[in-house]
Amino acid sequence: MRDIGHWIDGKLVAGTSGRSADVFNPATGEVQARVALASKAELDAAIASAARAQVAWGATNPQKRARVMMALVGLLNRDMDKLAEMLSSEHGKTFPDAKGDIQRGLEVIEFCIGAPQMLKGEFTDSAGPGIDMYSMRQPLGVVAGITPFNFPAMIPLWKMGPALASGNAMILKPSERDPSVPMMIAELCKEAGLPDGILQVVNGDKEAVDGILDSEIVQAVGFVGSTPIAQYIYERAAQTGKRAQCFGGAKNHMIIMPDADMDQAADALVGAGYGAAGERCMAISVAVPVGEGTAEALRERLVPKIEALKVGPWTAGNDVDFGPVVTAAAKANILRLVETGVAQGADLVVDGRDFKLQGYEDGFFVGAHLFDHVTTDMDIYKTEIFGPVLSMVRAKTYDEALQMAIDHEYGNGTAIFTRDGDTARDFANRINIGMVGVNVPIPVPLAYHTFGGWKKSGFGDLNQHGPDGFRFYTRTKTVTARWPSGIRTGGEFNFKAMD
Ligand code: NAD
Repeated sequence: MRDIGHWIDGKLVAGTSGRSADVFNPATGEVQARVALASKAELDAAIASAARAQVAWGATNPQKRARVMMALVGLLNRDMDKLAEMLSSEHGKTFPDAKGDIQRGLEVIEFCIGAPQMLKGEFTDSAGPGIDMYSMRQPLGVVAGITPFNFPAMIPLWKMGPALASGNAMILKPSERDPSVPMMIAELCKEAGLPDGILQVVNGDKEAVDGILDSEIVQAVGFVGSTPIAQYIYERAAQTGKRAQCFGGAKNHMIIMPDADMDQAADALVGAGYGAAGERCMAISVAVPVGEGTAEALRERLVPKIEALKVGPWTAGNDVDFGPVVTAAAKANILRLVETGVAQGADLVVDGRDFKLQGYEDGFFVGAHLFDHVTTDMDIYKTEIFGPVLSMVRAKTYDEALQMAIDHEYGNGTAIFTRDGDTARDFANRINIGMVGVNVPIPVPLAYHTFGGWKKSGFGDLNQHGPDGFRFYTRTKTVTARWPSGIRTGGEFNFKAMD
């Protein structure tokens, strides 16, 4: 059995807490590794060591730090296949999808090569007589990233890129369900020239997370995961005065107008609803066709496409559309929610409940499901299912569809499919959701824009990556400097405006 410890001070170390968690191969249901769960004492030692290392790293010029990012990009590209194989084997997503996971993280590291530009600060010459004013962006010190299972490469890279390039040391606490890829990335950081102690990967569960939250040394925590934990982390981090950005769950609506290209909309829904077995925070889980005619046309196209989806292990390569879900508990939860949909009167048009894959009977596979005639009071509408289950809620008008998305407690992503620019523009302006697609089902912003949801999908200020990533992991200091000409003759007692 492979044992996964921690990455501390530039080395792999074994856990000493005596606690561990099983890491599964979701395709077979077998335990393939054991990951150590850190004690508070192990975490505190990692933080103390990071704080010592950070002093020199914070004083290293930004261009040298950017060169580490540049080297890391090359190494991630070099090891792409190796990383993707490990990622698929622990997460279950298909091999091409695993490469996409790494690629979207790598692009943020590419953006972070621009750290010197992002950290330049501002300068006002002659703000007053003999007075200059300038602001600088300084690292916070030791910061933390706490990440979910569903993007085990992308989200750790989103956190560590701006944090490290800004001169911080980071404690990364990845998901205990698929911890190997973050450990491999840490080794690549060392190979890229990152000094020891600047990235500490501490594997663990609630004990490690609470240790991070209560630490007086850790200055900021970037979290991604489910909403109840996001809210918990946001509140507890505030008790020690930490900066916190905590991204949570989602229920993303796609509105289909009568004038949309129905074939395009159906293809988009199938990819966005069932890709990665629905285990994406930007997955579309609610389709809202406007008008009965639209609903019928969409349903007619969707059903055969969904029935034709191929479900299987990542080792089947490009022949598979989506793989298993991450754990037996996740599978049970999805099937439980499907039962509530049936019990509450939704029309289960595509029923994946009895899905079985020969040779993989113990894997955590869930077949594709489609519900029609879902109403907004049903559990399958209100709850994030995080599985291959799409719900169709029919709306009579555009305003009803818009209001439905506005009223939902989550606000991560949304999309509208239409040929009408005016409707699309109105939707983008009025919707209270952080990321909006127009004829684009999964509008994940590129690395140089920022990523973040509204409402219960995001707590705290500033988004992930892009310029906000640098703002979050730095603080501004503003210096007002006067170099008077001539000798001063007396004190000034009034609060000065610049004259
Ligand atoms: P999760 O909340 O179970 O776990 C996330 C992290 O929190 C993990 O590192 C885990 O170890 C830790 N954690 C779990 N329970 C904890 C507890 N009680 N106390 C302290 N720490 C705890 O989430 P997950 O199942 O790994 O990921 C799926 C969720 O993440 C979904 O809800 C999905 O929508 C969300 N997600 C959101 C985004 C986004 O950007 N908004 C992106 C990806 C995933």
